[in-house]
Amino acid sequence: MPNILEKIKQAGLVGRGGAGFPAHLKWKAVASAKSKKKYLVVNFSEGELGLFKDIHIMQKFPDVVFSGIRLALDFIGSRDCYFNYNKEYYKKTKSLVLPLIKRYEGAGYRFYIYGEEPSYIGGEETALLNAIEGRRTEPRAKPPFPTTSGLFSCPTLVHNIETLYNIALVGQQKFENKRFYCLSGGKSEGVYFLPADWSIQKVLKQTENYPVFNFFVQIGGSVSGEVLNSNQIKKREVEGAGSIEVYPIKTKPRDLMLKWFDFYACESCGKCCPCRLGSYNISKILKQNKKIDWKEIINLLESMEKTSFCALGKMTYIPVESYIKNVLKLKISLKQI
Ligand code: SF4
Repeated sequence: MPNILEKIKQAGLVGRGGAGFPAHLKWKAVASAKSKKKYLVVNFSEGELGLFKDIHIMQKFPDVVFSGIRLALDFIGSRDCYFNYNKEYYKKTKSLVLPLIKRYEGAGYRFYIYGEEPSYIGGEETALLNAIEGRRTEPRAKPPFPTTSGLFSCPTLVHNIETLYNIALVGQQKFENKRFYCLSGGKSEGVYFLPADWSIQKVLKQTENYPVFNFFVQIGGSVSGEVLNSNQIKKREVEGAGSIEVYPIKTKPRDLMLKWFDFYACESCGKCCPCRLGSYNISKILKQNKKIDWKEIINLLESMEKTSFCALGKMTYIPVESYIKNVLKLKISLKQI
């Protein structure tokens, strides 16, 4: 389909893995890169808490996802697809996916399955490429970007399952600017496919997840996402990877912070000190003291933001800063952050 790139551009399709990068720019970069070998890497491994849409999509619409895979491979001029499959998802969907792989292999496409334990850093494209190559799962310095030098130094297109699903819809002229929302903490937890421009409040109400209690939400991932109070959700749309988690207003700050920082401490790849020690030390401070020492934590977050190697360490301040400002409404200066 020669004008698929234009259609993807006109649809305004962005990656749904969290970064929100325009899909047509990635396609153009990989297709125009000069190389005999190019790859598509399918990331089917949601590593953050609160995200479970890709497994839902694959269980419900495996044919559509594979139609998106074929469009992507044909456009970049490749037959080689690495399928990054978290082990838990493999068990749940292999009976759907393996026959499709066999069918596409019959048409000349080549699939390589790479299995891994779910990990947050595995969602970072270059860390994923390192893992597939058998190296440590840690991010690479950029540039070069994977679109020009990715898997085995070849131009590589990396997409998650929801993005490939949307690409198929664009190809079939059925794309309607909807997105998959992962809802948790409310009455009707689950995955919902609804317009991408709805406010968070509207999504919660339409899905019967709007709480009867006082609440706040975390959007775009239940660890790294921004925290908003119930007044802020009237006009704001969901960002990032598309999750909304509802918390009762009486949630204890220490419990919430520990949820985040135990996760960060565990998921830090360990490549750089600010993130490896910063997240571990914040978790330790929280465990050792009943009262939160915000000043000390903010100092550590500031160091992490300024000196960490990749976004995992650099963006750790986002949930904390937004929680302090929007929910706790503490008068703590975060100017330097
Ligand atoms: S910030 Fe550093 S330690 Fe943390 S995940 Fe990135 S590279 Fe690894």
